[in-house]
Order: sequence, then structure tokens, then C-alpha cells
Amino acid sequence: MSRRPPLRGDELPEILVPPPGPKSRAATRRLRKVEGAAIWGADPARAPGAGTIVWARAKGSVVEDLDGNRYLDLTSGFGAASLGHASPEVARAVAAQARRLAQGLGDLHPHALREKLARRLSALGGALSKVLFAGTGSEAVELALKTAALVTGRRRVVAFEGGYHGQCGAALEVTYFPPSSAPLRPDGPPRAIHIPFSDVDEGWKRVEHELRGPDPPGAVLVEPIQGRAGVIVPPASFLASLATRARAAGLLVIYDEVLTGGGRTGPFWAWERSGPAAEPDLLCAGKGIGGGVAIAALLGRPAIMDVWAKHVPASGEAPYASTYYAHPLACAGTLAALERLASSELRADVESKGSVLAERLGAIVRGRAHVATRSIGLLAAVEFVGAGPLRPPDPARARAVLRSLLGSGILAIPGGLGGNVVSLYPSLVIPREQLDAALTRLESAVEAGSG
Ligand code: PMP
Repeated sequence: MSRRPPLRGDELPEILVPPPGPKSRAATRRLRKVEGAAIWGADPARAPGAGTIVWARAKGSVVEDLDGNRYLDLTSGFGAASLGHASPEVARAVAAQARRLAQGLGDLHPHALREKLARRLSALGGALSKVLFAGTGSEAVELALKTAALVTGRRRVVAFEGGYHGQCGAALEVTYFPPSSAPLRPDGPPRAIHIPFSDVDEGWKRVEHELRGPDPPGAVLVEPIQGRAGVIVPPASFLASLATRARAAGLLVIYDEVLTGGGRTGPFWAWERSGPAAEPDLLCAGKGIGGGVAIAALLGRPAIMDVWAKHVPASGEAPYASTYYAHPLACAGTLAALERLASSELRADVESKGSVLAERLGAIVRGRAHVATRSIGLLAAVEFVGAGPLRPPDPARARAVLRSLLGSGILAIPGGLGGNVVSLYPSLVIPREQLDAALTRLESAVEAGSG
């Protein structure tokens, strides 16, 4: 393994003023005056009313805020900047494309990179060799649910407690987490039949009951590893047995790999660790596949994806269209990112850093009954629970740890159904030394936060 020189000062966190500093606070105040409240929750990492840090720039795994504080980023912008922030190859490709062709004509005229990227993704999809582009993960899920409904004639879907699939109409209807979004779902019979992620045997009885009812489901939608619920990693056999059971019942199998795709767990798709029997019919990708540009896609078996051809309206318009469909800048960045993301070197590196991460998280929990950790590849979580046999969620402790992390220059993601999880989605190319430095600070934060 090649040895890297020790980290330079600017590759490590540096807190000049306690975050959020005055410039960040002032910018937050100005922003909140003009921005809709939909996007403003209570950030668990800050005291109420204290404002939050405002990102000014980011490079690799280092983020700098408006006050000049430097952080090591274990979020990679919710997993999207999988090759680190402002990855040189992605930045170069986007800049060159911005000069060549920066906007296409959606469904009317394809552009050259749309053809190139569709073929690249088709090759990565294996049997799922047909592609539709989307702009966000939610939109890819939306497309998957539409495609499945066209094929099966059924709109209902088996999904999982704790599942997160995004915020558009149908995607929100099948999302379980966060439960607070429930009031925004449309009235009428629920689209999703949510069953427990941990015990499919039990949940499947409900599915069988629904299959005999008047409005049966047509598909099952699942995250191979639940992300926002707190990185819940099922046994490798889970997906294969779910897919087998679903197929026997005539249900289409849809995986939401928006978070797990693009090599985050080791293999390019997380389902691959479960073997060929787990291969889905449709797969939603997003986030990390773009290496930091906004792109998402639906991949599917040709026989399923071609259902759209039967639904061309009499006017001759495409049955699906979007102004930013396969946006040229996003296609350029994604093509550059995939060179690296789909390489066997990257996979080996993620797996090797993943074992280091798992080992260090293991050391953090040792001797601490109220802390649990989970990880697979570079997707990880630390969970805080209270005392007693029921081990209730302890969101206060998670908040304390997030706050202490921020103060020591580490960015992590709040998560978990009970708000009691600190999730880590570092860049896949984070140097081992930076990962080590961040984990040392995580260990101290857990120690300080666990009282
Ligand atoms: N599915 C999963 C599994 C996700 O993690 C997310 C985003 N957190 C989405 C769908 C929605 O993606 P987006 O935020 O890009 O719409």
C-alpha cells in the first residue's frame, strides 16, 4: 500500500471561532427572512435560535464555513460528493461541458452525452439495461413507481417501516420516515403497505392478506440498507429471500439504491452482496453516482421499461419529459465520476477503509452499553439508547455528540427514527489519515457526550 505524507494543516479541522460564528449566524438570519420555512427544521447540532454554520467552500473532505472554520466532512453532502467535494476530474468535465453544451432539448432532441451516459449506466445495470434519467433521487423513485404501476396496473406498493424514498408525490407516499411528513400525503387509501424491515416473515402475512383484497399491491420497494432510519444493515440473505418471495407472489422488485449505489458499500450496487437471486426488476440510483453533480436514474429490465412505449399519447408527445432531463452538465460530471467509481481499485479501497471504520467503531462501543454502531463499507452509524431492557432512543445524547463534533470540526448527519443516531457518509476517496483523524474526534465526542 502506498504511504502518504502526513496530513498538512489545511487537511485537518481548525476552529477559529466557536461554530456557528458571527458571519454564519448573520447569513442564516438573512436567509431565513426570505426563504420558505419548509427547509428549516431544528438542526439537532445547534441550540435553538443559535443559527447554523454556512458553507463557503469545500475541497475533498474539508469544508470551510463563512467564518473561516475548517471541518472534516463525514457527510459528503448526504453522500452525493462521493469523490470528495470539487473532485478535480468532475470539475474539469463540468467546466468543459459548460462551454460546449450546457442545456439540451429534453425529449425532443437527445444530446451526445445523454447517449454516452445511458450506455455507461446500462452496462453497469447488468440485466437492468434500460435507463431513464432523473434529477433527484425522489424523482427516480417516482419514475420507478410509475413504471411499475403501468406494468402491473396496480398502484399500491409494499414498502418498509423506517424506509426513506424522497419527497415528490408518490415517493413521499411510500416514505415511512420521517413520520412527520404524514400530513402532507394525499388523502385516500394509502399507497404503501409498510411492513417491518427486521421481520419480513411476520410482515409477509399482511402482504398475503392484501394480495387477496380488493386493491392488491403490484410491487415491493426496499432500500438494501436503510439509510435515514440509521444505517440498518439486514443480513446478506434478506434481499434474496425478499425478492424470491415477491416474485412468487407476482410482485415487481424495486431497490432504492439512491444512497447505497455507486460503490458506497463496496460493490457498485449494494444488492450485489446478496447474490444473483437478489437481482431486482427496477433500481433507483442517485446521489453518489454523480460524484457531486445533481443526477439520478432509474434502471430496469428492458421488458419492464418498454411498457412506456404503449403509453405514447395520441398527440405523439413523449409520455415522460422534463426540462432538465439528462442535463448535459450533470451527464459530463457523472461520466467522469463513473470512471473512478466503477473501478476495482475504488472498490478495494472502500472495502479496506470500511474495515478500518468498522474496527474503530467497534472500539468506540466497547464497554458502553448505551452506544451501538453499524457499518458497511463507508456507510456507518452510531446509535444512542437509554438504560433498561427496552433500550429507548436517546436523542439528547445524539444531539450532544453532534454538537461536540461540530465544535471539534467534524461534520456528521443526524438520523434514526428516534433522532438518536449520528450517521457517517464520508467521501469514498477520503484519505485514510483524514478518516483516522475524524474518528479520533468522534471517539472523544462519544466519550464526552456519554457522561
Ligand atoms: N431514497 C433514498 C434511499 C435516499 O436516501 C434519498 C435521499 N436521502 C432519496 C431517496 C431521495 O433523494 P433526493 O433527496 O435526491 O430526492
